[in-house]
Amino acid sequence: MLSLVKILFTVAVVYLVWVGFKYRRRISEISKHVMEEKARAARAAETAARKPGTPVAQDLVPCPRCGSYIAAGTRCACEKA
Ligand SMILES: [Zn+2]
Repeated sequence: MLSLVKILFTVAVVYLVWVGFKYRRRISEISKHVMEEKARAARAAETAARKPGTPVAQDLVPCPRCGSYIAAGTRCACEKA
């Protein structure tokens, strides 16, 4: 009787691991897809916003709080936290 419980437990563990693996792979696939879509949308928006002859480079200014360089007109990550 005890061995039957052991077998059932093993089967349950294997099943849970398998389900967890499938679930994780699904999530990573979905998030990868979302990231690609986001990157594509960002690139499209950037291309649409950029006028011909406009320099691509942005001015960087040091953050007054932490000193790391950020794009001018944007807030530093240290301020958001
Ligand atoms: Zn900062």
